[in-house]
This record gives sequence, C-alpha cells and structure tokens, in this order.
Amino acid sequence: MSIKVSSVSKTYKTQKALNEISFYANKGQVIGFLGPNGAGKSTMMKILTGFIKPNAGDVFVDEINVLQKPIEAQKIIGYLPEHNPLYKDMFVREYLQFRAAIFKIDKSKIESCIEKVGLTAEAHKKINQLSKGYQQRVGLAAAILHNPSVLILDEPTTGLDPNQLVEIRELIKELGKDKTVLFSTHIMQEVEAVCDRVIIIKKGELLVDKKLSELKENNQQTIIVTFDYKIEEQFVNRLPNIVSYKNNYDNTWYITFESEEDMRPVIFDFAQENGLKILTLNTENKNLETLFREVTSA
Ligand code: ADP
Ligand code: MG
Repeated sequence: MSIKVSSVSKTYKTQKALNEISFYANKGQVIGFLGPNGAGKSTMMKILTGFIKPNAGDVFVDEINVLQKPIEAQKIIGYLPEHNPLYKDMFVREYLQFRAAIFKIDKSKIESCIEKVGLTAEAHKKINQLSKGYQQRVGLAAAILHNPSVLILDEPTTGLDPNQLVEIRELIKELGKDKTVLFSTHIMQEVEAVCDRVIIIKKGELLVDKKLSELKENNQQTIIVTFDYKIEEQFVNRLPNIVSYKNNYDNTWYITFESEEDMRPVIFDFAQENGLKILTLNTENKNLETLFREVTSA
C-alpha cells in the first residue's frame, strides 16, 4: 500500500509540466495533493496510474514498477480522473456491472460498493438523473470496485455544493482508513479536514511535503492590541521575541512574535509597566489558507 515517485519529469512538447518530482506515501495515509491550476497535479496522477509515461524518473505502487507493468499496477490502483468520465445514459448498477466486467470482478461486489459510498437510495436511477455529488459517488464506487489498495482521486470535490463537499470529504476520509489515498484539490481547508499529509506543487516543482501537524506547527503569533493612549514605536520595539509590528489605527497595534509562549500576558505586563490600559487584546493564528497562499504566490 505504498506509492513511490522518484525524480519524475514530464514535458509536453515544449511545455514543462513536472520537474524532478519525488515523494513517498505510506500505507493508510491520506495525502492532499495541492497546487494552483496548471501546477502539474493531473499529469502526476496520469503517470502514477500508468496512463502516460514521464520523460524521466520512476514510479512504484506497492513495489510494482508502474512504467514497466502498468496493467499490473492498475489492478491495485483505483483512479477517479478529473471531470469524472461516466456513461451517463446508463443506470447506476448497469454502469457498475459494466465496470465490474472490465475488471473481471464478481458482480456480487457491486452492492457493497454502492453501500460504502452511500448510493443505496439513488442506485436505481440513471446516472444523468443524479446530482453532481451523487455522480461523484458513482465515480468513487467504480474506482473502488476492484478493492484497490491505492486510490488516486483527481479533484473529487470540484464543483460540489457545500453539503456535497462535506459528504465526499467524509467518504474520502473513510476510504483512507484502509487505503493509501492521494487526492488533488486547490482548497486548503479540504486538506485540513481530510489529510494526514500535504504535498504542494507549483509549475511542476515540489514546494512542500509535510505532515499536516508539521505544517500547522508554527510558532508565530500576531497579537492585535488596543491601548487607551498613543504609544511610541520605540516602546513597542522593546517587547521580546518581536518579528514585526504595524500600527494602522491610532492606538491599535498588530504585533507579530516568534515564540512558543503565549505573548498576551507579556503585553499585559508591558502595558501596566508603561501606565497604559488595554482596551482590546486578540491573537490571530496563521491558518493553512494563508500558508498556502504564501507558499504558492511567491
Ligand atoms: P493541474 O492538474 O495541476 O491543473 P496539469 O497536469 O493538467 O495541471 O497541467 C500541467 C501543465 O501541463 C499545464 O501547463 C498544462 O497546460 C500542460 N498540459 C497538460 N496536459 C497537456 C497536454 N496533453 N499537452 C500539452 N500540455 C499539457
Ligand atoms: Mg488537473
């Protein structure tokens, strides 16, 4: 149940899409594969699933060399491509039976997959009668029919409404319990809700590969404080662990510290020592959304 990508590069004619990408994914991990449009996410996924070949590099799924044995690799990979290609005139069960026949899977597996993705109440319908969220579930059911140990999902939540989003995220999380899941998105909150790990690429370059907990680990805190009187900059500058500060409004300061310690009590003492009263005091933590923007806009 592992994925190993080493030094993969891909160029379409003159368009460089991936530049020496390497990463490793272990059993039972859900990995968010992030990056702005055109970053190379879909290209990486097509290479991982054996549908296109890179110009250089190696790809292994569970010790199977995907580039040398794509068919064998596809037996243990479930893939939901971008834009979820479905035969929409087919009934849900009819489509899943068709897929089961391709993969030479016993039809008896279909009902448990329908149940697993929460399609039971809609399974008697034609695919084009289903909402986008339910069509996405059909795509997921088709992807897990052959009980793959690795799931590759290309933007499975794009175009869903907020309720559908939450449901599909829950489903991905559930599937991740006994599979290695790599799914692409450009929504950072999604990653926060579902993933154990985050890989961020931009213009074919790998920028971040971290555990979610490591990414959240950030010792910077910004404190927004309003004093009752005007205070000179040189006083504020005397505070310990300061990274930066600004003073947009008269007596309100935005002060960023690099510290493991909560700096609010320090500011409280500082105010008292300088004969000031604190009118408001708030902490603002960097969220992953800001972090993603910082990383990808540079
Ligand atoms: P993402 O999925 O992150 O949006 P893609 O992998 O689709 O990124 O695309 C990466 C880059 O490769 C983009 O610049 C895109 O225009 C280019 N690209 C993708 N597919 C092709 C193709 N078949 N031919 C030429 N260029 C392509
Ligand atoms: Mg894409």
